[in-house]
Amino acid sequence: MAILTPRLLRPKLILLISRAFSSPTIVDSLKPSLPLQLHGHTNTKRSIQWVFLGCPGVGKGTYASRLSSLLGVPHIATGDLVREQLSTSTPLSKQLSEIVNQGKLLSDEIIIGLLSTRLEAGEAKGESGFILDGFPRTIKQAEILEDVTEIDLVINLKLREDVIVEKCLGRRICSQCGGNFNVASIDIKGENGTPGICMAPLLPPSDCESKLITRADDTEEVIKERIRIYNIKSLPVEEFYRSRGNLLEFNLPGGIPESWPKLLQALNLDDHDEKQTAAA
Ligand SMILES: [Zn+2]
Repeated sequence: MAILTPRLLRPKLILLISRAFSSPTIVDSLKPSLPLQLHGHTNTKRSIQWVFLGCPGVGKGTYASRLSSLLGVPHIATGDLVREQLSTSTPLSKQLSEIVNQGKLLSDEIIIGLLSTRLEAGEAKGESGFILDGFPRTIKQAEILEDVTEIDLVINLKLREDVIVEKCLGRRICSQCGGNFNVASIDIKGENGTPGICMAPLLPPSDCESKLITRADDTEEVIKERIRIYNIKSLPVEEFYRSRGNLLEFNLPGGIPESWPKLLQALNLDDHDEKQTAAA
């Protein structure tokens, strides 16, 4: 399969997303309480269409995935889409692995192609709404997305850079079961008005302890370079959404136990979580 050009992809994505609009599933209680005044569509009967931004290692996958289970919308991470594609033996996969192996970034066209295929497959299964993670990463991607659908809310997750570095250095994978763990125990005292930050490690069960490995690209130098590149590329994307009034900045106050309730509060979803917990 040849890589489709944006001209070919765009109508496909429009079609998909316009179909998604007509789907009646929506978290009714959620819409009026959204934290930001979102242009015009508050009465539209459709699921949430959110975007997560955040530096590699900030944990946006974790929070996006939790919100996706809570709200019953798919969590679509472009990184996962690329990995899934690479694990197949299609001509596209061959093309992708050549690009990735040369250390180059995948083009907007390729990423949008993967995303539109994913949305189409989800739509066929009756999915509605989405939480995007890892997309849009460039202004061009944000513009294409804006052309085809409305994004209700963009959540920009932030964490101190020294903490991100420490967290990434603490990542471990079990070479046997593939489990993800983190041995970093972060306890930074607050000073000069800056709040301190505590993050407990996520230790492996004893069976995995002796089989832990570190990702080859989790060295301090590589992590810092990833953050530097991310910051340069993401600033215009943040500004794009800030100027449209739908960027929610969220500073992570710590690990999941501290951050999750605060994030729900910021999203006016704290009641939602209680109901879910009570129903569970
Ligand atoms: Zn294991």
